[in-house]
Amino acid sequence: MTSPAEKLVIRNIGQLLTGKIEAPIADGDCVIAEGGRITAWGYAADMDTDGATTEIDANGVTLAPGLIDSHVHPVVGDYTPRQQQLHWIDSTLHGGVTTLISAGEVHMPGRPKDIVGLKAMAIAAQRWYENFRPSGVKVMAGAPVIEHGMVEEDFRQLAESGVKLLGEVGLGTVKDGRTAKQMVDWARKYGMQSTIHTGGPSIPGSGLIDADMVMETGTDVIGHINGGHSALPDDQIICLCESCKAAFEIVHNGNERAAILTVNTARELDKLDQVILGTDGPAGSGVQPLGILRMIAMLSSLGNVPAEIAFCFGNGNTARQRELDTGLLEPGMAADFVLMDQAQHAPGATMLESVQLGNLPGVGMTVIDGVIRSERSRNTPPATRLPFVI
Ligand SMILES: [Zn+2]
Repeated sequence: MTSPAEKLVIRNIGQLLTGKIEAPIADGDCVIAEGGRITAWGYAADMDTDGATTEIDANGVTLAPGLIDSHVHPVVGDYTPRQQQLHWIDSTLHGGVTTLISAGEVHMPGRPKDIVGLKAMAIAAQRWYENFRPSGVKVMAGAPVIEHGMVEEDFRQLAESGVKLLGEVGLGTVKDGRTAKQMVDWARKYGMQSTIHTGGPSIPGSGLIDADMVMETGTDVIGHINGGHSALPDDQIICLCESCKAAFEIVHNGNERAAILTVNTARELDKLDQVILGTDGPAGSGVQPLGILRMIAMLSSLGNVPAEIAFCFGNGNTARQRELDTGLLEPGMAADFVLMDQAQHAPGATMLESVQLGNLPGVGMTVIDGVIRSERSRNTPPATRLPFVI
């Protein structure tokens, strides 16, 4: 957190990405934030850069709103029991991700499935990540998985207690569309967002959720539309893209061919603004610190999407679909940024061109709420140029 008096000036920016799919690149070489919020951007020569408490020389690199992972399964702090791993969130920060959104704390050993227990855990998870941000990363958690027997009063209580998300529908005992729709409607009535496990079972004990169930349930997000891991048949994915106004969430932990199918279908339908990205990590396939950058490069290169648009899948689209105060270059938005440059020796004339050729950029710095949280990434390939603090 920053005090209102703190002023951050980032100057000498080579390129400004906005997160806005309708205008993904902005003119300017400078961004200013005060009290952790964006106040202005443009050309430094025209701006009031006096009185900075922190000043960064971007050294000609690209600045983008911090990346958002729309689908993670955190448990507690910066530890995941799923692969017995410490510091996976810190590693993810080094992949340019500044916000994580829980799709359910389902890897908690002994996770309670009785109603009072699951409510208690959701409320506790919301609190422990609100009170403790690993390496400064914002973790929106407390995402209960619905179980048979829940009634409207449970959703009212959860919402009043600060729970704003539902975990993936389908990971609990509710596997029929009618019951799921009733509970999702109750959640929505009290301001909670919902998502659903789309596709075949993820691990022993989970089940198939097909397109009919996704449509009947009507969640706000079509969780891993490309499967996690197993994707639905192509005709069902196309049907979801055609029929739904919900976000099309593509995950790293899913089927890559189905991811490309989703993007191609969304483009044909003029629905690329509905495409958002997640990792679904920690998962059976591990933790994916560079997962969002890898999805951006994969979708840009194989899905024939300009890189500046593919970046919007990983920040601004998610921010809009999920009504966040981050992920967009806008006055009043949180000053959450990733500064990156073309990776050393990556082909292409510019950073964006190198990404469109399927390469990862090198992350040089991350900023959350106007505070520098990491400098040269230990995980991405090394950036050609690095920003530095003046
Ligand atoms: Zn899932």
